[in-house]
Amino acid sequence: MSLAARKIRLIMKLRRSGITNTAVLAAIERVPREAFVPAPFLDQAYEDRTLPIGHGQTLSQPQVVALMTQALEVKPSHRVLEVGTGSGYQAAVLSLLARDVFTVERYAALLEEALQRFAELGLRNIHARVSDGNRGWPGEAPFDRIMLTAAGPDVPPALLGQLATDGIMVLPVGPERGDQDLIRLTRTATGFREEMLAPVRFVPLLAGTVGPDEPDRNDPDDLELGDVAGPGESGLA
Ligand code: SAH
Repeated sequence: MSLAARKIRLIMKLRRSGITNTAVLAAIERVPREAFVPAPFLDQAYEDRTLPIGHGQTLSQPQVVALMTQALEVKPSHRVLEVGTGSGYQAAVLSLLARDVFTVERYAALLEEALQRFAELGLRNIHARVSDGNRGWPGEAPFDRIMLTAAGPDVPPALLGQLATDGIMVLPVGPERGDQDLIRLTRTATGFREEMLAPVRFVPLLAGTVGPDEPDRNDPDDLELGDVAGPGESGLA
């Protein structure tokens, strides 16, 4: 089956699973996921699967990307912060829906590859840098929308402070190796409203950054490309 046919099959699967927002489906249809996956996994680019991207990190399952993007309710005027650039795929999807996407990644090597992909695809409204996303991006705050694609035990307090009033944050929260909750926080005039969206498994939100040639002292499983991540990671639990 051609990649184009597989893509259509994936979009139909997403629709059946409850992704009804046509702008979100159109964005997923327009972004070539094959440009974000490592060569050995090219033929799986449009399977509803989590794929490894190196350094023990993963490109989320399309169904989870779609669910999170739809839950974020992005409007064309919005400035969106993403924590955990990874391959850059989720940022690319968001860039077709928002005015500007700010995305941060703790691995310099992953960010470098993502930047090349953004340039090749002509995605000019994505602003990316290496930093610890627990701190957000203070110089560009507040954000209308914030998405985390790695799971910490709690919502990072700095990110709560960088969310605009009426802003929405979608993130996985929970223990490193166990079941996590995908939650949506909405900032109201008086506080935050929290909704539980789905049980999920994401890679951990870690502290600090990792330079281009540095091993990750913070991550005991600093796996190299080819070591497939655990079955459910960055997917539905
Ligand atoms: N959104 C990505 C998914 C990447 S997986 C994609 O579409 O491909 C989660 C990413 O979060 C990993 O690349 C990991 O290195 C990164 N990450 C984990 N903790 C982080 C932190 N504190 N700050 C920034 N990035 C972080």
